Amino acid sequence: MTALNSRFEYVKGFERDDRCLPNSWIIVRVDGKSFSKFAEQHGFEKPNDKLGLELMTRAAVSVMEELRDICLAYGHSDEFSFVFRKDTSSYNRRSAKIMSNVNSLFAAAYVFYWEDIFGPTKLKYPPGFESVIVVYPSETNLKDYLSWRQAELQTKNLYNTLLWTLIKKGNKTETEAHEILRNSTQKSEILFREFGVNYYNEPDMFRKGTTLIRKLIPSKKDNKLRQYIIPLHCDLMGEEFWKENPEIVG
Ligand code: ATP
Ligand code: ATP
Ligand code: MG
Ligand code: MG
Ligand code: MG
Repeated sequence: MTALNSRFEYVKGFERDDRCLPNSWIIVRVDGKSFSKFAEQHGFEKPNDKLGLELMTRAAVSVMEELRDICLAYGHSDEFSFVFRKDTSSYNRRSAKIMSNVNSLFAAAYVFYWEDIFGPTKLKYPPGFESVIVVYPSETNLKDYLSWRQAELQTKNLYNTLLWTLIKKGNKTETEAHEILRNSTQKSEILFREFGVNYYNEPDMFRKGTTLIRKLIPSKKDNKLRQYIIPLHCDLMGEEFWKENPEIVG
């Protein structure tokens, strides 16, 4: 442009090339900042607040509606992972651009849809979210990543379900409940024996998290195939999910 502009332009050279490895899945994982406190302050039900999870999913759907190269998203608690198709050319695969775009869209949507989901319960302050971006070159890596997130949910959710049952139904203090849990390996047995709770009857959304995928479905209006974002509460470990939805990695 102008001479003045070119005099200062050298500063652009300080920017680093942060393009993601080609031909690899790019994953952005968003996680709520200090959501233990956020959940407390907004009266979230423990261990699983249904509306809280619904809002996370609404925000994730909103991100997928905007960014068409996301082929799958998986979330639970205060986190959501977004998987970009391995051949995406979004932002020239520049990682800071991709990550900050996903993160800001997610945060904005979380606030935007708060009232739709929580109604009269007011948002007390603007929540923050943090993200990481990771690139996985093989299909096995991608599947193992999702299995890892779901395995973490399973361990934590079983723990928290027993913890809050001990507190709510067993009249234990939080400290006592943690102590009991520290020495117990058979958490689902305790739940069943002492409280008549069959862990496997707990809602799938709590036990398995929420997976969002795109599916072509005939529209009710004109029967033409249209793409919809579908929420599932399914197992990601093992091969079944991938056999049923081969187009995700294809
Ligand atoms: P950090 O900033 O390091 O992520 P954090 O407080 O957000 O800290 P996490 O490990 O991300 O810690 O855990 C999120 C916490 O938020 C959960 O442990 C739980 O207390 C709370 N939480 C998030 N979503 C829900 C929900 N739907 N129902 C109940 N509690 C929730
Ligand atoms: P990108 O996503 O690539 O950043 P963009 O549309 O945001 O695309 P920018 O180069 O960032 O393009 O320019 C921002 C544009 O937003 C401006 O060109 C202008 O049209 C509009 N804009 C932003 N702030 C204002 C404002 N306060 N008043 C009027 N127009 C504005
Ligand atoms: Mg968090
Ligand atoms: Mg978390
Ligand atoms: Mg702009």
